[in-house]
Amino acid sequence: MAGAKKGNFRELISPFLANKLLEIEEAYGNNSNEYHGLAKQYLKSPSEDIILPDDRRRHYESEVNIEFDGKPVLGVERLYKKTVLLEPTTVCAAHCRWCLRGQYPVKTLTKDNLEHSVRYIGSDLLNKDVDEVLITGGDPLMSPTMLDESLSLIKKEAPNIKIIRIGSRVPFQDPIRINSNLLNVFETYNFRYELGVNVNHPVEFWRESIEALDRLKEIGFKIYNQNPLLKGVNDNFETLRDLYTLLRENEIEAHYLFHAIPMRGMQHHRTSLEKGAKLSNQISSCGEFSGRAKPRYTVLSDIGKIVIYHDTIVDKDEKTNSLLLRSGFDYNQRKEWNPSWEKPTSTVIGNDGMMLTWYKDGNDN
Ligand code: SF4
Repeated sequence: MAGAKKGNFRELISPFLANKLLEIEEAYGNNSNEYHGLAKQYLKSPSEDIILPDDRRRHYESEVNIEFDGKPVLGVERLYKKTVLLEPTTVCAAHCRWCLRGQYPVKTLTKDNLEHSVRYIGSDLLNKDVDEVLITGGDPLMSPTMLDESLSLIKKEAPNIKIIRIGSRVPFQDPIRINSNLLNVFETYNFRYELGVNVNHPVEFWRESIEALDRLKEIGFKIYNQNPLLKGVNDNFETLRDLYTLLRENEIEAHYLFHAIPMRGMQHHRTSLEKGAKLSNQISSCGEFSGRAKPRYTVLSDIGKIVIYHDTIVDKDEKTNSLLLRSGFDYNQRKEWNPSWEKPTSTVIGNDGMMLTWYKDGNDN
């Protein structure tokens, strides 16, 4: 995932996407749902400079902040029992305007730091619980060399890891990169592979992208989608219906539909939580496509993902436009998995030990 220097997340559009933008403009016009569906994801908007007094730079902190063998562990995040995140580099093929990584500094781990982090993942501190690594960043498919180093180190230093998940938009931003060189890297190591893509609009199902995903499926990848609900991109029934129909047709599992995260300069991307809940209900019960294609509508809160059910919203503070959300996260367990984790000020612990957290809502103006 991509990073920002001093909060300036520069516009970056791959030549593949620039060409698609031109084609879509020519075919549908620059005021069409199709054009907005892509342009609002990648073109920098002046609205990004509208910073509200209570806007936050990052929406949560889950980096492990610990020393292992006398050295800090870098590029590792942990919120859950079985999975850790490894972030070898924050470079991407294009910059998605709504991405939380836009607020992170650009970083690439040195070989030594990468090795140290992987040794930590394989150490006695984690190896009884953790069996899955989500390699994200940045986009891990941007550097086959670094990917090779990461997988080889995991094989050698962390035999507890059975599943490798990759978070990548390369198939939809620069599909030519899914070539034999990259595929050989994966084929060298025996893991169970899964790829999380981030496709938001039906217009993104280009032939080149589908073929790139097919190449990954051929070597054993399972593909799933998790995508944000974005104002003016996919916040209407028809677009979501067509998106989930295409996911089903292309054998991509619909995993999460995320409410767009609360972050600095992001207001113009964010609907209210309620609008997303209504849309999610609508697509879940419309009967227009298979139930297997229905996503879980979810919030990325200060304490991790919370799936939105009818009783999830416990309270509302009109003054700050915030909602108190019930989670299933146990505070004591969290401290056990990540001893350096600090309870955010937005969070309270219920009588049953589970955390509830205040979450900044969006609006539907
Ligand atoms: S969503 Fe992925 S590809 Fe897009 S900016 Fe974020 S990290 Fe990069």
